[in-house]
Formats: sequence, structure tokens, C-alpha cells
Amino acid sequence: MRDSIVHIGLLLPEVLGTYGDTGNAQVLCRRLRWRGFDAEVVPVGLGEPVPSTLDLYLLGGGEDGAQALAAAHLRKHRRALTPRAVVFGVCAGLQVLGTRFRGSDGVDHDGLGLLDLTTEPGERRAVSELVATSSDLLGNAPLTGFENHLGASKLGAGSEPLGQVVRGTGNGDGTEGAVTDHIAGTYLHGPALARNPALADLLLTWAAGQALPALEVPEVERLRGERLARRRRPS
Ligand code: GLN
Repeated sequence: MRDSIVHIGLLLPEVLGTYGDTGNAQVLCRRLRWRGFDAEVVPVGLGEPVPSTLDLYLLGGGEDGAQALAAAHLRKHRRALTPRAVVFGVCAGLQVLGTRFRGSDGVDHDGLGLLDLTTEPGERRAVSELVATSSDLLGNAPLTGFENHLGASKLGAGSEPLGQVVRGTGNGDGTEGAVTDHIAGTYLHGPALARNPALADLLLTWAAGQALPALEVPEVERLRGERLARRRRPS
């Protein structure tokens, strides 16, 4: 983090705010403040340049049209997000971070190419609770959230999945999400970082360049327990 205030960029909330993923910015701010850091959310709107100076960049989910608009704008500002930015995308945000995505109208769009992933419409829309295992990167903490998407994503050799699907659809091939360096994406809404504190802290650790003090929030753990218990029940 470059100065005493951590700047969390919330990219295009007016078009990528449909699924409540803007809450991820609030979660990061709160987890930083609980640890004694000063933090603020910097919304970056459609039509505004993306500053290269922010500590972390967030992209949420959105409808196909909104997603295409967002991708067209962000492609012009891709340099702000390379080479060492910390970026987290959810659903449409994940797809935009990939190299290419095809909407339900069959039109192909270039993504930002920050993740090695392409997306095409799947057989049916995935609307469900989503539970996945996670890798060592996330301390093997199960991932939980809900999903609502048509796109199915295929990872190339340049990205690793965040986990393996236990319930729901995720990327569509049994894997969930993607990560390359300090760029990560997921199909989890919730918001994802409220339901998965290990994921929130992974992003903050990347932004800080160092491990942060542990933080246990009993309410979050209780909510996780409830949600994860439901994974055994049919949707
Ligand atoms: N429009 C994309 C899809 O349906 C993303 C949806 C979303 O962000 N929830 O695959």
C-alpha cells in the first residue's frame, strides 16, 4: 500500500452493480479499518479514466449489455491494471478479465486478457447456491456464495481455478473461478468477500505486500456455518 490510506477502486458500479457486488468494497474497507488501517472506496465511473494509483480494483457482475459496455471502456484503460495491480472480478467481472467472452446474442467481445480464460453461453442459466473447495492460497477454506449466469468459462494454462465445485455450476467444468498472479475472479456473489473472509484477506495481503494480522469475526463465521450446512440440501 503506497500511503497511509488504502484506496480501493470500485470500477463502473453503475453498470457492474446489479448483483450487490459493490458490497465487496465495503467489506475490504471494514476489514482494513478493524485492523487499524485507513481505507477509502474510490468509485470509477463509465467514461472516467481508471487511475493507475489505486491499491486494489474491484469489478462486479452485470447483464450482458452492461458487461459489453464495461469491457469496451476498460479495454481503453487496461494499462492502469497492468502489470502489478491487484484486481478482483465477479461473474461479468471475471468474464471481462478473461481474453474473450460471447454474450447470449452470439457476439464475441475482447476481454482485458488479465486472466487466461474464455467464456461462451452455457446450456442453461446457472442460478443456485454455489459451494467450492479452495486451494492452499485460501487456506483450503470452502468458498460459498450464489451464482446467476449463463456464461461458462474455460481456463487456459495461464490461470488456475480458485477451487473445485461441490455444489452448483461455477465455471461449468467442475472448477470455480480463476487466478493469475494478483488477479482473481469468481462466479460467487453474496457479496463474495462478505461470505468468504479468506478471499477478502488474500486480496488485502496482495495489496499490502505482507501478511495482515488475523481477524476473526464471529458473525461472519456463524453465517458461513449456516450457508455451508445448506450445501447438503437440494436447491
Ligand atoms: N452476463 C453474464 C452471464 O450471464 C454475467 C452475469 C452476472 O454477472 N451475474 O454469464
